[in-house]
Amino acid sequence: MVANRPERRSGLCYDLHSHSTCSDGLLSPAGLVRRAAANGVDVLALTDHDSTAGLEEAHIAAHEAGITLINGVEISVSWGDQPIHIVALGVDPGCPALAAGLARQRAIREERAIRIAERLDRLGLTGSLAGAAAHAGEAPPGRSHFARFLVEHGHARDLQRAFKRYLGRSGAAYVPCRWAALEEVLPWIQAAGGRAVVAHPVRYRMTRRRLLRFLDAFGAVGGDAIEVISGRQNADQTRAVADLARSFALYASVGSDFHAPGAGWSELGRIIPLPAGCVPVWADW
Ligand code: MN
Ligand code: MN
Ligand code: MN
Repeated sequence: MVANRPERRSGLCYDLHSHSTCSDGLLSPAGLVRRAAANGVDVLALTDHDSTAGLEEAHIAAHEAGITLINGVEISVSWGDQPIHIVALGVDPGCPALAAGLARQRAIREERAIRIAERLDRLGLTGSLAGAAAHAGEAPPGRSHFARFLVEHGHARDLQRAFKRYLGRSGAAYVPCRWAALEEVLPWIQAAGGRAVVAHPVRYRMTRRRLLRFLDAFGAVGGDAIEVISGRQNADQTRAVADLARSFALYASVGSDFHAPGAGWSELGRIIPLPAGCVPVWADW
């Protein structure tokens, strides 16, 4: 386990973005919770892609480990043709509007998986649908499951290269995906009693102008927060996002976006303190 304890300026250690085997993470929900607790996390949100299936198991493990688990889900949305990830925190997974919306998202993912496999077939890389499904387990196969298949069969040296060459936007097997629209998804989150958070804002490679337009649109549909501390980003990026949080009057959230132990992903609970002037998304929890 990780030796460095997270820095704590005050109070509890929050990590509000993480993945389990119920989407594209490598640890089971219970394993994830145990690792978070060992790393000093006090409040963890499990935020699998378009799925709340891991929450029940995670709650049991959190109770045993003595940490607080927040019900979360990371929802892929389309803002025009720009894909954006929205983390929903504090949702009721039983909410019918949310459950129906997530079921539709999973159907979109299944369809995309079939089309990615068709493209890979045409490139002579056969067997990818079954291969990705084997990595996905119960979850619908997503691009990272295809990436694991490609690495496993020697078609790419690592996951990054699998995305670059095949699965990413300029890859040979890229399939553009139409997720639910931003203005459709926010009401699911609101009906479920949750807060909507813009995930990893520096990862979209949007121009500043476009990001500002997006945040206007996000505010207009009742968006609540933005991840000021996210996975791997540098101090300049953190400062810039903190400024955006303040100027758009958004709450600030923090999350590792942990997927797997080891290189390539941030570690659970490695969360630096929020810059001064940010209002944490948990301020009134
Ligand atoms: Mn992921
Ligand atoms: Mn994401
Ligand atoms: Mn994520």
